[in-house]
Amino acid sequence: MSAGWCAWHRDRAEDVEPIFYEERGSGPAAAISVCLPCARKMHGRPYGEAGRAAVKALEGRAAESRSRPRA
Ligand SMILES: [Zn+2]
Repeated sequence: MSAGWCAWHRDRAEDVEPIFYEERGSGPAAAISVCLPCARKMHGRPYGEAGRAAVKALEGRAAESRSRPRA
């Protein structure tokens, strides 16, 4: 789990993954992290290979936390 800021719904989320990389004029590309519900709403968006892998990781962790009793 990596709780953080979802750049899509602009609020904190239980789990986020960098899905987009925003090119900037100078320096490295900025990672745009989103939560799973937002990532699901983006289906069909061309977020590329890295984005698909990130969504898969989110889906996997969500499935894992569902199968485990909450502490
Ligand atoms: Zn979100």
